[in-house]
Amino acid sequence: MKEDELRAEIVKFGALLYGRGLAHGSAGNLSVRQEDGTILVTPTNSSLGFLSPGQISKVSAEGIHLVGDPPSKEAFFHLAVYQERPEASAIVHLHSTHAVALSCLCHEDTSDVLPPLTAYQIMRIGRLPLLPYFRPGDRKLADAVRQIAGGHKAMLLANHGPIVSGKSLQDAVHAYEELEETAKLVFLIGDRPVSRLTCEAIADLNEAFPN
Ligand SMILES: [Zn+2]
Repeated sequence: MKEDELRAEIVKFGALLYGRGLAHGSAGNLSVRQEDGTILVTPTNSSLGFLSPGQISKVSAEGIHLVGDPPSKEAFFHLAVYQERPEASAIVHLHSTHAVALSCLCHEDTSDVLPPLTAYQIMRIGRLPLLPYFRPGDRKLADAVRQIAGGHKAMLLANHGPIVSGKSLQDAVHAYEELEETAKLVFLIGDRPVSRLTCEAIADLNEAFPN
């Protein structure tokens, strides 16, 4: 896809996510990696519901601002994911309600904080590790992301929200939506006994639909 088409995609999916209530205020950011290695990312203090193609920032793979408005203050962890995941072409990071609620719970096992409930969750998200809390803008977050990103399509930042990557922006958006809906299921189910997918069922899904 050419740059102008990717800019239009970011505007379209930003409006979709805002319209569905998954993004609010100026929270959240989207990015796309182009074939030349440059990254298009939503600008700082922008609302995903009201973007225009020309204002979207373009930065180098090292994060140097090239054109457009100044990039999101959270762009640095997008760069960390791209560095560790050569197959990733897009990233969605939002502060959606159920996913953030999940990130605020105490989890005994932080290697995967979503119980295996549905096949599409396994296919689109995989395991969801929880990273520790960092204050906004803390560059130590990039180091923590780097350690996890190579082996995971999605990760959850404690008391903050998820980072989800994909082969395309549509792929990353679909995975993000699956994550938010699965987090919603966790709270709907609450303390009731759960019929989890078995290890055999998960292995079968991972073999049939490798991430
Ligand atoms: Zn954030």
